[in-house]
Amino acid sequence: MKFSICNLGCKVNAYEAESVASLLEKKGWERVDFDEQADAALIFTCAVTNTAASKSRKMMHRIKRNFPECAVAMVGCYAQIDDGMLKDAEIIVGSSHKKDLPQYIDEYFETKKPVRVLDDLKDTPFETLSADGFDSRARAYLKIQDGCNQFCTYCVIPYVRGRERSMAPDTAVKEAVRISKDYREIVLTGIHTGRYGREYGVSLAELMERILNEAVNLERLRISSIEITEIDDHLIELMKTNKRIARHLHIPLQAGSDEILSAMGRPYTTDEYFEKIEAIRKELDGVSVSCDLITGFPGETDEMFARTLQFIEKCRFSFLHVFPYSPRVNTVAAAMDHQISPEVKKKRTSEAMQLSQKLADEFRTARLGNKAEVMCEESEDGYTKGYTSEYIPVRIKGVLPHGTMAAVRLSEYRDHMMYGEVINNETDTIV
Ligand code: SF4
Repeated sequence: MKFSICNLGCKVNAYEAESVASLLEKKGWERVDFDEQADAALIFTCAVTNTAASKSRKMMHRIKRNFPECAVAMVGCYAQIDDGMLKDAEIIVGSSHKKDLPQYIDEYFETKKPVRVLDDLKDTPFETLSADGFDSRARAYLKIQDGCNQFCTYCVIPYVRGRERSMAPDTAVKEAVRISKDYREIVLTGIHTGRYGREYGVSLAELMERILNEAVNLERLRISSIEITEIDDHLIELMKTNKRIARHLHIPLQAGSDEILSAMGRPYTTDEYFEKIEAIRKELDGVSVSCDLITGFPGETDEMFARTLQFIEKCRFSFLHVFPYSPRVNTVAAAMDHQISPEVKKKRTSEAMQLSQKLADEFRTARLGNKAEVMCEESEDGYTKGYTSEYIPVRIKGVLPHGTMAAVRLSEYRDHMMYGEVINNETDTIV
C-alpha cells in the first residue's frame, strides 16, 4: 500500500507528519510524493490564518480531483475546527490520536465508512510521537510541548490544540539522544515551547542542559521560538556557557504599540520587551534576536503602526516574520470593531517586510569577516546552502556533505545573501 503526506503548518505539524510517516513505513506502507497516485493521502492541516485553512481544503480537493480512488485523511488543527468543509475526506482526525492514524486508515479500508476522531481537547494528554526522519532536512525537529493556555485575542491555536502539556523529560532526552545519532542539529519545538515542563517541575533550560549532557554527538541545539516572558536566567546562563546552543532567539513581538499589545492580550509592554532583550544582549554578545509581527490588528491606527516600526528599528532585530492580521473563528479579536482593510494591511505588511530586510542586511554585514559554523543543507550550482548559529543563511563555495557542520569565513554579502568559504579550523586559513 502507498501513502503520501503533505504538511501545511508549523514545525510541530512537520514533526507529527514525519512521526506518522515513520509509523506507516514500519507497517510496510511505501511513501510516495504527494503528486503521485497513493492509496491514502494524509494532509496535516493548519488553522492559524484563513489562507492556511483554505490551502488545507485546496489540497484535499486536489487529491480528490487527481486521484479519486485515494482515501484522504485530514489531520490536525484545521480538521479540529470541524466547520463541515471537509466532509469529502474519508478520514478526519483532529489534534489528538494522531499516532492511531495507521489504525484509522486500516479501519476505513476494512469498512469503507468515513472515520471521524474529534476530541474536545479538555484533558488531552501529551501524545508522544517519534520521527525516524525529517524528509530531506539537515536538521531534526523534536516536539516537546503542545497546547496553549494564553488565549491571545487573535489566536485560534488554544481552541484547536487544547491546554498546554509536555513530553516527559526522560522521554525527551531519550528521543534527543536517539535523533542525534543521525542529525547534528535538533530544533526543540512546541506550540508554547517556553512553557515546557510545568507539569513535571522541569524548565526548558533544565531539559536543554540534560540533552546537551547526554546527546554528546549533537553539535547544535536550537529553540524554535520562545516568549519574552519565558526566557529565564538559567537559559541565558546556559546559552552563555554552552556554545552548542544556537545563538538565536525568535521572540514573538506581534505589535510595537502598547494599546495594540493590550488589545491582543499579550503579557508584556514595549518597555518590558525592550528591557528584556537589552538584558539578554548584555549577557549574550552578538546574539541574534528575531520576532513575529502582526500587521493590521483591529484598531491599529497609522500612528500606532508608525510607532511599531520605530520600536522594531530600536530593537535591531536580525529579521522579522510578518503576518497580516487574519480574523479567526471564535477568537475575541474577530469580533472587534475597527477591522483594518485588506489594502491597508497589505501596505503595512510590505513596509514591515522592507524594514525586516534592512535590519537583516545590517545584522549580517556587521558579521562579514567572522568565522561561523554552518549546518550544510542542499547543494546547487557549485554552492552549498546552510544556516549559521545566528540563523544567517549562507551560500558556501563548494559541494559539502548534507547535514554536516562546516567551519566557514563569512566573506561577502551580495544581493541580500551571505557568501562564505570553508576554512581549516586549526590554521584558520581558507581551504
Ligand atoms: S501564546 Fe498566544 S499566539 Fe502563541 S499559541 Fe498561545 S495564544 Fe497563540
